Amino acid sequence: MDTIATADALKKARDKLMQVIIGDLFPIDSTELDPNNCVNGYPDIIDDTYICGNDKPIDEDLGILGFAGPSYWRINSGVQNFTSITGQMTFDIVDIPFMIANGLLEDVVLHEMLHVMGFGTAWEPAGLVSASNIYSGANGQAVWSEWGCVDTPPVENDGGEGTAGKHWDEDCLEDESEDGRKTN
Ligand SMILES: [Zn+2]
Repeated sequence: MDTIATADALKKARDKLMQVIIGDLFPIDSTELDPNNCVNGYPDIIDDTYICGNDKPIDEDLGILGFAGPSYWRINSGVQNFTSITGQMTFDIVDIPFMIANGLLEDVVLHEMLHVMGFGTAWEPAGLVSASNIYSGANGQAVWSEWGCVDTPPVENDGGEGTAGKHWDEDCLEDESEDGRKTN
């Protein structure tokens, strides 16, 4: 296992998110959280989001590369609502050397970090996606037309549980990190 390459991919993905996610969330005392939901253990105070990571065998070679989601989120009104407190990413330990060798690991890590943040995973509880997979978030709809796409952002409607309803469909998105292929 190339731990230096893995750490580098994790740090680069985290740094990308820290460039675009600004603002502050109220801190959480981690003693209120179940430690079994984080293999690494929590810091005492979580400010703003803490992501736990786990490498283990998931499936056959190059099937699912990884999956992730929030473990706890803030339930409040306004902008703090459904913001992730902690979540866990799991990567298929068998596939990590392939992802490193092909320069994919950073993208896969970024994809899974976004699921921890609520991308896809918070859409349904936050009321942002309809039963017919129409995404109704105002900001997503606004950039959709700026990008020259029509109608509303399409949510992936196939791929099965773990993919459908939690990703963008590939329509109109050419180099999109958060479509559902290869990862969940
Ligand atoms: Zn995914």
